[in-house]
Amino acid sequence: MTTNATMNDWTLAVSDAQPRFLQRLKELVEVESPSHDKAAVDRAATLVAGWAEALGGTVKRHKQKRLGDVLELRFGPARSRRGRVLLLGHLDTVWPLGTLAKMPWREADGKLFGPGVLDMKSGVLMAMEAIAAVHALGAERPVTLLLVSEEEIGSPISRPIIEKIAPTCSAVLVMEPAQELAYKTARKGVGQYNLHVTGVASHAGVDFQSGHSAVLEMARLLQTVAGFTDLSKGLTVNPGVVRGGTQSNVVAAECFASVDVRIAKASDAARVERMFRSLKVTDKACTLTITGGINRPPMERKPGTVKLFKQARGFAKEMGLVLDEASTGGGSDGNFTAALGVPTLDGMGSVGAGAHAAHEHIVLSHVIERTALLAAMIANVD
Ligand SMILES: [Zn+2]
Repeated sequence: MTTNATMNDWTLAVSDAQPRFLQRLKELVEVESPSHDKAAVDRAATLVAGWAEALGGTVKRHKQKRLGDVLELRFGPARSRRGRVLLLGHLDTVWPLGTLAKMPWREADGKLFGPGVLDMKSGVLMAMEAIAAVHALGAERPVTLLLVSEEEIGSPISRPIIEKIAPTCSAVLVMEPAQELAYKTARKGVGQYNLHVTGVASHAGVDFQSGHSAVLEMARLLQTVAGFTDLSKGLTVNPGVVRGGTQSNVVAAECFASVDVRIAKASDAARVERMFRSLKVTDKACTLTITGGINRPPMERKPGTVKLFKQARGFAKEMGLVLDEASTGGGSDGNFTAALGVPTLDGMGSVGAGAHAAHEHIVLSHVIERTALLAAMIANVD
């Protein structure tokens, strides 16, 4: 059923639960959960699974061998005429174990600091509190909160899980941080290409002419690769890492480069792929091997997403707030769901700054309004 709850009702319900939100956020931030550490991410999953059960949710733990388990938490009626809403988040962070010693949980000037507090442990808890508010106001509908374990390394194991669940849902709300205050309606697609050149080593003084430099060949290739950038299309190519050679007096036998690619349009994926695969060496004694590709399709600004955003903006207006939309070059798991054609709105999480940086924090004063907005969206989206 739909609800007659006003934004004022949602705000009150969420405000009442604020002490619980704060206590749990501290607890979750203090369970460090770097993507590559299965045991650590699993500890965070166990903590959140317990809270979900206390909230009446059912827990399905997609067990993993190498990386952390993926949590599928289901709330509300199993059967309903209303579509299921998918709230999408991740429990892993970019911060290694031991970061808390240098970057402890702390509160100062209305900000909360700590590793992963913005990206996205506060988002996970906002989702839980919004679900609790929906329950408290009797606006039950089927909701899935999917918390993956390895978003920060490209969601290699959770992608198939996300892509299986998303098409069974009528809308996806992604708990990534806001862009300043805005929700995100578009994200670029992300790719990585690895170039490996082998040449022929020789002594740079004694036997220069029999050498074929892999470093020199890579330098030529990267000139070509950099030329793939097309800013008018939102297509950027960045050779971010190069490694090669052994000594300055040796003609280099090997060189490696890692190249980041961003695309704004899904149709550019094939073009980028063609350009990389058609790269050729100039020095025929060198060989080139290319691996990688586009691994997150872009989230384009589609009508379904715009409709979700307009609905959110309406609720914000009711609260006296102005809500903007934004696009970003960064990818999220929302890229996968949007590419499947499921209306997806991203940036539903915290307001703050310093994701992946030492000053990572959230601004506490925005938590209640954004959680109330999220609750209203869960209760009311088609
Ligand atoms: Zn994130």
